[in-house]
Amino acid sequence: MKVKLLTYTPHPIKAVFTAARSCYSASVPTQIWNEDEPKERMHSLIDKVIAAGHQSVLEHISLTFSIEGISRSCSHQLVRHRIASFSQQSQRHVRVEEGEWVVPPSIEANPSAEGIFQAALGQIYVAYRELIDLGVHPEDARYLLPNATKTNLVMTMNLRELYTVSGVRLCARAQWEIRQVFEAIREELVKVDDLRGFASHLQPICSHLGYCPEQKSCGLFPVKGSPSLSEEGEPSP
Ligand SMILES: Cc1cc2nc3c(=O)[nH]c(=O)nc-3n(C[C@H](O)[C@H](O)[C@H](O)COP(=O)(O)OP(=O)(O)OC[C@H]3O[C@@H](n4cnc5c(N)ncnc54)[C@H](O)[C@@H]3O)c2cc1C
Repeated sequence: MKVKLLTYTPHPIKAVFTAARSCYSASVPTQIWNEDEPKERMHSLIDKVIAAGHQSVLEHISLTFSIEGISRSCSHQLVRHRIASFSQQSQRHVRVEEGEWVVPPSIEANPSAEGIFQAALGQIYVAYRELIDLGVHPEDARYLLPNATKTNLVMTMNLRELYTVSGVRLCARAQWEIRQVFEAIREELVKVDDLRGFASHLQPICSHLGYCPEQKSCGLFPVKGSPSLSEEGEPSP
């Protein structure tokens, strides 16, 4: 898969800082915007505001990503996140070509399983082409296509939604493919000077909560209510 940050709100630190300070200042937003605050001071206030749960200030930043070569299985999980915008390659208009499918690592690592997987996909692809050759439109022939079929999409999310979604999709118990998407998104943010400070907040939800909200922990944090949590809900050392 390939994940690329295409564009984002200009001056993201300043935009979030101005939004956050406007809430607690007698100055008007244009005055705050024109103040020459160092980045570190702006980030220090932003981190405090986020820690206090006042995350709406992050909604002023919008990020647009190209996500290429993921499976339809993964894209279906992705588009469940409603506070985002998606433009996905259409199987009604674009024909799928042979080999355009994602092979899960568990299948790739097992030669017998991969043989079964590839043979089944090969048969599906042959049938798909035969239907199209018989004059069936790709929008109907696609009913044969499997979840493994590759897709490309453009996704725009505001930074608050990106924090929320990363919380569940960076969890070790999330499926490997969508977890890789959000790991790649975090790497894209790290590459940009003005976004790097926000990237550190893209973490599995347990690291914000101090406990694992799943039924079974991956080991990073104990499950809530387990004996290894203190009464305050903090993990014991
Ligand atoms: C580990 C895991 C397993 C899953 N298993 C299944 C499954 O078996 N079956 C299944 O159908 N789905 C499953 N899902 C998908 C899940 O139910 C959600 O649809 C998906 O994660 C989108 O998240 P969301 O609804 O919290 O938030 P988003 O759509 O990303 O919205 C972000 C937040 O905005 C708020 N919000 C958004 N829309 C509304 C609204 N209409 N009303 C009130 N508040 C709103 C909520 O606080 C929400 O958390 C699973 C997801 C995960 C992470």
